[in-house]
Amino acid sequence: MKSRCSDCSGVVKGEAVMFGDRLLHPNHFRCSVCQLTIKSFFFCDEGQKPTCHACWKQRNPKCKKCQRFVSETYISAMNHNWHLGCFLCTVCAKPFPGGRFVEYHGKPYDLDCYWGLQLRKFINL
Ligand SMILES: [Zn+2]
Ligand SMILES: [Zn+2]
Ligand SMILES: [Zn+2]
Ligand SMILES: [Zn+2]
Repeated sequence: MKSRCSDCSGVVKGEAVMFGDRLLHPNHFRCSVCQLTIKSFFFCDEGQKPTCHACWKQRNPKCKKCQRFVSETYISAMNHNWHLGCFLCTVCAKPFPGGRFVEYHGKPYDLDCYWGLQLRKFINL
């Protein structure tokens, strides 16, 4: 029985890459994102797809709110990364004016909502 590459279906002689139950020519072992041949180390995402180091780094960080990878411009705040459209006030779901926010119990609030919250607590007492 001949071993065939699961990418090009060609016979694999000599050097081969085993990935899961698949056999591949070394130059057909490709990154699932950029489709370039993976030469050194790689990572596997949840779908068991190989991802090269460069793509993996690019696909990290994840947005704290929606848990999707952040690729374009993003906001780093409260030790997490956020999409521009995901970093919103916890109460009114609006972006922060001038980027000013208050962290309260691990959630971001704009100043108005934060003080509104404090005031409400105060009144309730
Ligand atoms: Zn091949
Ligand atoms: Zn890649
Ligand atoms: Zn997001
Ligand atoms: Zn608000």
